[in-house]
Amino acid sequence: MTMAKPKYELILLKNMLQPGYTGSLADYERAGGYQALRKILGKVAPAEVTAMVTKSGLRGRGGAGFPAGIKWGFLPKDYQGPKYLCCNADESEPGTFKDRQLMERDPHQVLEGIAIACYAIGAETAYIYIRGEFVLGAKILEKAIAEARAAGYLGKNVLGAGVTIDVWVHRGAGAYICGEETALLESLEGKRGLPRVKPPFPATAGLYGKPTVINNVETLANLPHIITRGPEWFASIGSPPKSTGMRIFCVSGHVKRPGNYEVPMGITCRDLIFEHAGGMRSDKPLKAIIPGGASASFFTPEHLDVKLDFESVAQAGSMLGSGGVTVMEEGTSMVWAALRLMEFFHHESCGKCSPCREGSSWLVQTLRRIVNKRGRMQDLETLTDLCQNIAGRTVCAFGDAEVAPILSTLKYWRHEYEELIRTAEANGSSELLMPAAARH
Ligand code: SF4
Repeated sequence: MTMAKPKYELILLKNMLQPGYTGSLADYERAGGYQALRKILGKVAPAEVTAMVTKSGLRGRGGAGFPAGIKWGFLPKDYQGPKYLCCNADESEPGTFKDRQLMERDPHQVLEGIAIACYAIGAETAYIYIRGEFVLGAKILEKAIAEARAAGYLGKNVLGAGVTIDVWVHRGAGAYICGEETALLESLEGKRGLPRVKPPFPATAGLYGKPTVINNVETLANLPHIITRGPEWFASIGSPPKSTGMRIFCVSGHVKRPGNYEVPMGITCRDLIFEHAGGMRSDKPLKAIIPGGASASFFTPEHLDVKLDFESVAQAGSMLGSGGVTVMEEGTSMVWAALRLMEFFHHESCGKCSPCREGSSWLVQTLRRIVNKRGRMQDLETLTDLCQNIAGRTVCAFGDAEVAPILSTLKYWRHEYEELIRTAEANGSSELLMPAAARH
C-alpha cells in the first residue's frame, strides 16, 4: 500500500510514517501517546471532555458524518446501569481501506481514543467490532490491548484514577451490512446481523438494550489529538465550521499513486487526485470519480473543483461517505461499472426488507442484460422505476446506497446505456427477461 507523501502536518498517519515506527506501546509513548488520557482521567469531568469534542466539530468518519460529541450527548444523563462503546471497525465499503491501516500500523492511537470516549460517556466496556477478514488487524489489536492493560492504560483502576475500561476485540464474519450500526449490535449479541428498525436509537437502547455509542475507528483515533492540542486547534483545520479536521482519503483506481492520503477537509478532488495521487496512470483523461465509497453517486470531470467536505460534496449531489475515492479513466464502461457495484450490493443485501432484497436482484438482472447486449430501451425506465421504489423505502440506508451508482450513471452517461441497447436492437438480441407484470 502506498503511503501518503506528507504535504500538510499529518495527525493520524504521522507516527506510522516515522522511520522504524512499529506501533508498539513503547513507540507510541515515545511519540507522546497516552498523554491525552493522562490529561483527563480524574482531572477533567467526563461532561467537559464531551464538550471539548463537540466544540472541535469532529464528525463521524465512517459514512454518516454525525457530530461525535453530540452523539455522546444523547446518552441518558442519569442512567446508572452499564453503557457500552462500540468501535466500528467493520470497514467493508469498496474503495475504503484507511481504518485497516490505522489499526495495523498505530493500534494504540485507536485504543487511546477508545479509552477517552469510554471515560467521556461513562462506559466500562468497549468492543471493537472488526471485519472478519482483518485477521492481522485483530491480532495486532489483541496484542496492543494486552500491552495497554499491563501498563495500566486499560483494565481496572486505569492510571490510578479509579476508572475501569475494558476493551474486547470481536471479529465479524464478513458481512458488509454489519457496518450498519444496529446490524453491528445484533451481530455482537450473537444474532444474525440484520439492521434494527429505529427508533429506539442505540443511545437509549443499544447493545443488550443498554445505552450505547458506536464510533468509527478514524473518528476515535482523532480524540487523543483533540484533547492534547485543544478543540480550537482541531476546529481551525479544514472547512470550518461544519467540516473540521483532517481526513484520510483512500484513493484507488486509475491513478499513478493509489493509497491513503491524510489531507485537510475541503481539499478539492483535483488536488487530491492530481497532486497527491499523482494524476491519471496513463494518457487517458479522467472520466469518473466516486467521491465517498461505493454508496456515493458518481462525479464527472466537471466536479474536479468540488471541495471534499461534507457540505460541498452533498451540494454537488453526492456524499463524502467513508472517504473512498475511486478514479476511472476514459474508456471505462460506466454501465459495466454500475453493474459491478450493483452485484456487490445485491450480494450484501441482508434480505430483511423486500424493496432491497427483491429490487437488488431485479437491478442486477436488468443491468446484466444491458451489458450483455440483450437490453431493450424499456429497461432504462425499469431501472429508474426500481431505484425510485427502493430509495427511502427500506429499513436501513443500504437501499439509498445501492441505487446511487445506477441513478448517477444514468444521469451522466445515459448515452452509454442507449448505445449498448441500440446494438442489441440492431443485432436482434434484445430480450425481456423479467415478466411484464413484475415490472410494475
Ligand atoms: Fe437489509 Fe437492504 Fe433492508 Fe438494509 S435495506 S435492512 S440491507 S434488505
